[in-house]
Amino acid sequence: MDYEAVIGLEVHVQVRTKSKMFCSCANVYGAEPNTVVCPVCLGYPGALPVPNHEAIRAAVRAGLLTDCEIARYSKFDRKSYFYPDLAKNYQISQFDLPFCVKGKLHLEGTGFSGAEIPPHDVGITRIHLEEDPAKLTHFGATSGADFNRSGVPLLEIVGEPDLRSADEAYAYLTTLKETMRYGGISDCDMEKGQMRCDVNISLRPKGSEKFGTRIELKNLNSFRAVHRAIEYEIDRQKEELEAGRPLHQETRGWNDEAGESYVMRSKESAHDYRYFPDPDLLPVTLSDEEIEEIRRTLPEMPGAMRERFCRDYQLTPYDAGVLVSDREVALWFDRAAKKAKNPKLAANWIISELLRELGNAKITIDACLIKPEDLAALTDLISGGTISGKQAKEVFAEMFASGEAPGKIVEAKGMKQVSDTGAIAEFVAAAIAANPKPAEEFKAGNGKALQFLVGQVMKASRGKANPQLVVAELKKQLQ
Ligand code: ADP
Ligand code: MG
Ligand code: ZN
Repeated sequence: MDYEAVIGLEVHVQVRTKSKMFCSCANVYGAEPNTVVCPVCLGYPGALPVPNHEAIRAAVRAGLLTDCEIARYSKFDRKSYFYPDLAKNYQISQFDLPFCVKGKLHLEGTGFSGAEIPPHDVGITRIHLEEDPAKLTHFGATSGADFNRSGVPLLEIVGEPDLRSADEAYAYLTTLKETMRYGGISDCDMEKGQMRCDVNISLRPKGSEKFGTRIELKNLNSFRAVHRAIEYEIDRQKEELEAGRPLHQETRGWNDEAGESYVMRSKESAHDYRYFPDPDLLPVTLSDEEIEEIRRTLPEMPGAMRERFCRDYQLTPYDAGVLVSDREVALWFDRAAKKAKNPKLAANWIISELLRELGNAKITIDACLIKPEDLAALTDLISGGTISGKQAKEVFAEMFASGEAPGKIVEAKGMKQVSDTGAIAEFVAAAIAANPKPAEEFKAGNGKALQFLVGQVMKASRGKANPQLVVAELKKQLQ
């Protein structure tokens, strides 16, 4: 029998705010454990939460960027469970009135395997805001809880079971991450736990409308692991079904070293979290004006930016795509392109030289010593004929190493091309006088003779004459 995979993702994204969700502790990563805490995020009895409106606005931004309906009236609920990462024994979350519902995400491009994803939309069920629990770390038989993470604003983005392959799940995650990063909602650094993902997956006979039994996969630490785990799980479920062993709803973990999933909890039934409205928090109302104001000030998204780069700077869609795939690079290019006389040349230098050098140096563009304006100045020196492309590479290397402005480097190295037509005319006249035979040959139509004469002029000028001007001057004097 032919089976079809049905996949739905639940993604958690930490919101990048100055302070935590319900207290004024800083929202920072990497501090000494349990140093960024207060009675509210430690869950002391009687401590009262105060919602962080910036986090709520970020939730609205996330919703608008994924075409969700935004709730004018929303509230926070208590989700009760007992676990060491939760000092209050309940998590402040949202139950029936999340901030955002019924959204969608547009997928296209290529999946992890490189296969083409046919352009289509997949549904987003809801996006709600909650507080992150503490982070547990296990050391052999003991465990530690770091409450620095407790109370960090966390978005839960629940996707519809619209994905059909590991590649589509990968494309969904990549697109969601790009959207959250461009929207300034989160950096989505998985290594810092800023983006976490659970995968729900089931199989059904191809053509069937009914969903099969779903397995939930946890402990997925990278997009690559998600892709691998899904491929593994599709094969595993297929084998079970083909052997006539019906699947049971369960939660499985993913062991990336072993490359296999294992049972964590079986016989999963609906949890009873005893949700009820948090009596410490007022319902949240959002006015049409505020939602419209957030909509108006949404940052430019990658798709729009790609189109603008192609239109305004005459880039190819491919080059625009390379630049836009990293928001910091795209903004850096935009600054350079605004200054450069030839923005396309600036794009070429970023794609072929700068990105390679950044990769070699293992740094990101915000650590780059070259300023976008200086890269623009470098390309102007090339297109204005002051330096040759070859000299520009030398200047670029120096700029990358020292952050020095290109004009200064050119001056210090005495690199300036001679573009003074009077000086060039003298060099040319001298070259013609010294080489009467090639001059006659060129007049008779021999192109190679011109190359020879250009070489003589370049030699006499010690490589500094602007070759284009030399050619033009030779033709002028010989014709
Ligand atoms: P829970 O609250 O138990 O996690 P939800 O109804 O919130 O359950 O669903 C969680 C996720 O599971 C959603 O992302 C949804 O798309 C996905 N999902 C639901 N049913 C299936 C199924 N039969 N196969 C695969 N994924 C599913
Ligand atoms: Mg859920
Ligand atoms: Zn606190």
